[in-house]
Amino acid sequence: MSNEQKIKIKERIEKLRKTINYHRYLYHVLDKQIISEGALDSLKQELKKLEDKYPEFITLNSPTKRVGGAVLDKFIKVKHQVKQWSLEDVFTEESLLNWEKRLKKILLKNTIDYICELKIDGLHIVLNYEKGVFVLGETKGDGIIGENVTENLKTIEAIPLTLEKNINITVEGEVFIKKSDFEKLNKIQKRKGLNLFANPRNIAAGTIRQLNTKIAAERTLDCFVYDYVWPERDIPETQIKELIILKDLGFKVNKYWEHCKNINDVVNFWHKWAKKYNTLDYWIDGIVVKVNKKTLCNKLGYTGKAPRFAIAAKFPSEEKTTRIRDIEFRVGRTGKITPVAIMEPVFIKGTVVSRATLHNFDEIKRLDVRIGDTVIITKAGEIIPKIKTIIKELRPKKTKKINVPKKCPICFANIIKKENRIDYYCKNKNCFALEAKKIIYFVSKKAFDISGLGDKIVEKLLDEGLISDASDLFSLKQGDLIPLEKFAVKKAKNIVNAIEKSKEIPLWRFLTALGVRGVGEQNSLLLEKFFISKGFHITNWTNNIINGIQSIRGIGPEIAQNIKIFFKDKKNIKFLGKLDKAGIKIILPKTKLNSKVSGKTFVFTGAMENIIRDEAQKKVIELGGKISNNIGKNTDYLVLGENPGSKFEKAKKLKIQTINEIEFLKIIK
Ligand SMILES: [Zn+2]
Repeated sequence: MSNEQKIKIKERIEKLRKTINYHRYLYHVLDKQIISEGALDSLKQELKKLEDKYPEFITLNSPTKRVGGAVLDKFIKVKHQVKQWSLEDVFTEESLLNWEKRLKKILLKNTIDYICELKIDGLHIVLNYEKGVFVLGETKGDGIIGENVTENLKTIEAIPLTLEKNINITVEGEVFIKKSDFEKLNKIQKRKGLNLFANPRNIAAGTIRQLNTKIAAERTLDCFVYDYVWPERDIPETQIKELIILKDLGFKVNKYWEHCKNINDVVNFWHKWAKKYNTLDYWIDGIVVKVNKKTLCNKLGYTGKAPRFAIAAKFPSEEKTTRIRDIEFRVGRTGKITPVAIMEPVFIKGTVVSRATLHNFDEIKRLDVRIGDTVIITKAGEIIPKIKTIIKELRPKKTKKINVPKKCPICFANIIKKENRIDYYCKNKNCFALEAKKIIYFVSKKAFDISGLGDKIVEKLLDEGLISDASDLFSLKQGDLIPLEKFAVKKAKNIVNAIEKSKEIPLWRFLTALGVRGVGEQNSLLLEKFFISKGFHITNWTNNIINGIQSIRGIGPEIAQNIKIFFKDKKNIKFLGKLDKAGIKIILPKTKLNSKVSGKTFVFTGAMENIIRDEAQKKVIELGGKISNNIGKNTDYLVLGENPGSKFEKAKKLKIQTINEIEFLKIIK
């Protein structure tokens, strides 16, 4: 063969390698496909044929080297050129915040920004390139000495065998298997009649440590990189720059990193991914947080075990145990009765949860779950708490089997079972709507005033079985709300906070919230005075007290009767008991009555400067006075604000005493 021919063949080989490598990069690193796998295979076959025929042109970095085939005796140990560190793990928001506190002790007034990356759940590996060619791949080992697994790593298409630049560089990354490839792998195992792989997390490690390199080639692994040591070049200013440089060199860098300006952004990033990590086609078990500026990283340095400038914030573990406090029955929109387990609140996968639906009575039977049982819970779809099993050994003595209730727990109507259905229903068609209405009134502005709890949300909570009456609101946890449609972490948090805040409530507003027919704000104020005179307690409803209601001046006989019936109803007494247990704190007006205010009627007009009108009126009521909107013969004081209206004219006519804001403030002092 002439020299000229040989040069042509060499050129063809080099062009083929370049083309194959280009399409590999598009497909395996950038997730783009321009030519089909079939066409690419065809190019690889041509290259293989030429290399077989002209072995003098074979190079270490040829794409044909990716197919595996060599069977090794053992893995050779290698000393890492750069020590491979492990990161400190944290599992809670609090420990993330504490980490920053420790950083600030060293960095003092420097402002710290961070970079957050996903923590890929795979195998840590080290890749060494000489003059741009991949020459040595190592496992992490003990951080100082690893194993040479170059041949297996070469089978991973995401790892470039040649770099764009002719450089010496060491790169760190994580080898993993995609969920979709894991499933394919198990299908093949099944077809071959072999054992299925139980844990995808161990596959990457197991595969990379296979002595038969053919196996690695079959198990399509993947690889993200995130760190490098490039001795011939200055250290980049930031971690972010480092990632960008890696990407430009042709490495596969995970795209979900985020620059966080402060630790709160870091916490949000962590929460976000703790909730949605299941949407990815690979497993992650947390996030990696690094101080972004390299100058600060250098100042922070290392402890004996780990770098100070980086930390792994893991997602909380997937299974937890807790105990069943109660099993309640909820009535949904369709009247369907759903059993719900009320649990001791437990932190799982980033949130606290306190309830788990048991779906139906077959599920109760299957689990044989009872009140007092210790259970193992998981999160289905990563957000919905689910009782997986019970730990029978820990069952207390004398527990009872849970049976279908005879009557509806909400309205006491009969319970019916529809034919061919496993579910039970309340016979009362209005059951759900009536209860929803009660709760909506309970949380409304004039009652508990819980902001963010609109009608739709109340109905949803009721329909999903998270609450059965208003008292259940007070034990809701953030994690109970997050699984609901259209509920973000922040919204759930805001609502839980608003509920918590509403627990302290003046007695008259509490009485309004109960929704006794005919008892609005005015009558509630009258009732309040009456109850205080009798010595109020939320669970104290003796006949002696109740019978006195009809003697309250200003409350008509019909309404008095409604009130009496309400407080004699066992179901209502139970509800009040639940509110007491939920920690409702009822604020009584100050008992020391102000003689200038007590029994007097106040009317307000015009804008006030130093006190909000609502506050002023509340104060009057607390001190035993009354509020009216209209000037009348019974008005004792008209309080004048800026630009008083027609009330002022009327007051002058009726010769009613007028006072300005300063005088008013003196009176109520
Ligand atoms: Zn019912």
